Amino acid sequence: MTTTIENAPAAVPFIEKAPLERYVPPDKPSLVGLTRAQLAALLGAVGVAEAQRKMRVQQLWHWIYFRGLTSFEAMTSVSKELRAELAQRFTLDRPEVVAELVSVDGTRKWLLRLPGETQGTGIGERPHEVECVYIPDTDRGTLCVSSQVGCTLTCSFCHTGTQRLVRNLTAGEIVGQVMMARDRLGDWPGATRPTDGVVPTGNRCISNIVMMGMGEPLYNLDAVRDALLIVADGDGIAISKRRITLSTSGVVPNIERAGAEIGCMLAVSLHAVRDELRNELVPLNRKYPIAQLLEACRNYPGVSNAKRITFEYVMLKGVNDSIDDAKALVRLLKGIPAKINLIPFNPWPGSKYECSDWEQIEKFSQVVFDAGYASPVRTPRGRDILAACGQLKSATEKLSARERMALRAMAMTD
Ligand code: SAH
Ligand code: SF4
Repeated sequence: MTTTIENAPAAVPFIEKAPLERYVPPDKPSLVGLTRAQLAALLGAVGVAEAQRKMRVQQLWHWIYFRGLTSFEAMTSVSKELRAELAQRFTLDRPEVVAELVSVDGTRKWLLRLPGETQGTGIGERPHEVECVYIPDTDRGTLCVSSQVGCTLTCSFCHTGTQRLVRNLTAGEIVGQVMMARDRLGDWPGATRPTDGVVPTGNRCISNIVMMGMGEPLYNLDAVRDALLIVADGDGIAISKRRITLSTSGVVPNIERAGAEIGCMLAVSLHAVRDELRNELVPLNRKYPIAQLLEACRNYPGVSNAKRITFEYVMLKGVNDSIDDAKALVRLLKGIPAKINLIPFNPWPGSKYECSDWEQIEKFSQVVFDAGYASPVRTPRGRDILAACGQLKSATEKLSARERMALRAMAMTD
């Protein structure tokens, strides 16, 4: 049986989705997502003398990104006048949360509402919606972040690709997802952690970020870059670039830029070993075929055995899951410092594929393992809340034989 909204076990708590007609777009811009240079320019515009700007930027940075303040009043190191001036013109708002689902396994999914195309033109404007998912583990907490509303690419197995509306998120809306999640998880200094669900041990709820939500991050590279550099900044949120992974379907010309300008970890949605099949699964392959994509991976700035590229491979029954495919996959990746993630296909209403049988995933994974790759299979998480960023599954996890057995049992009863 497939888990659906109807038969999913109850997830608690749930914030009722606010009716669309009550949506009021923000009337003031938020400072969340501004880079240091943008903050300095803005301070100049509100009359802060040039000699003071650097110091003021540092103060604001600390309050916004290290402490996570949501209002200007508590910024005690900033003069009263400047606080008032800023509060009059700006906010520190994050994207509006319209629904929150908490799975019995601690996975959380938020639905966020963002202004539509004609941002800020008035009440009643039709907003956009994106998802953000938090996946806790004992040793880490991963936040899956969206980069676009919908996606212009139309991968045939992906639900996001069927959504009509597409717009790039701003850097503020991308950083805002991280800030919103830290608010909800009590992940700011001195804040209180939630008592429901699983939270990782250690001093951070969110230790890892994956750009694997809705959208193609390399089609929104400038905003994604600004956002990720803010998230990685050591004076603020300070999540190491080694713990930030950007996933792309293969926008070859922007892969090098991502490495040079962001320097985060790279994941590539490969899914097929032959161009003919990949053209069908990931139509962008017609533009940038496998050989070009792998060449860009070989040249990814900083790539090494210590900084491997993750190749994602969605397991589609009878389509790309044969043992020959597995052998071809390890041949294809020879010489590239790589990790391979096998993702059980997450079906959605109307999709034409099925997930490979668990036995087949195991056989496939054995070939990959025998070739010297750890072959983690993404554990299905948050099933009761359908935790999928546009059908995304969970963070990766290496599975022990015992866990595989448990998972197999789960897959059978599912
Ligand atoms: N656009 C980017 C990042 C978002 S998708 C990309 O394609 O890489 C994140 C991952 O989820 C990708 O590997 C994508 O192929 C995979 N995915 C999409 N739909 C899926 C589904 N229905 N089941 C399993 N994985 C899926
Ligand atoms: Fe877009 Fe990625 Fe989905 Fe393809 S898999 S449609 S690139 S979000």
